[in-house]
Amino acid sequence: MAKRCERKCTDKNSHLEIEDTPESYRVGILVEEVMVFETWFGKTGYYVCPRCKITMDREFMFFCDRCGQKLDWKNYRKAKIVYPGKARK
Ligand SMILES: [Zn+2]
Repeated sequence: MAKRCERKCTDKNSHLEIEDTPESYRVGILVEEVMVFETWFGKTGYYVCPRCKITMDREFMFFCDRCGQKLDWKNYRKAKIVYPGKARK
C-alpha cells in the first residue's frame, strides 16, 4: 500500500526525511506516532513530535513546545502506536 506524500514531493522517499531548514519548521508535519505508557491507571497515549520525537503533553498544539515544529493533526486518528524503549539521551 503506497503512502501518499502530503507535500507532493517528486522523490518518493524524501518525505521520510525531515529537512532542517527554517522553512521546514513552518510547514506542518503530520503527527503519526502516539507513544503509549502503562501506568497504574491503565494505558495513556502521548503524541510524538515528528521532528524531535519528544512526547507532547497536550494534543492539538499548533507547534511543538521544544523544537517549534509546526504540527499537522489531520492523521492523528491513524497514528501508529509505539512503546517507549530504553531511555535514550
Ligand atoms: Zn518537536
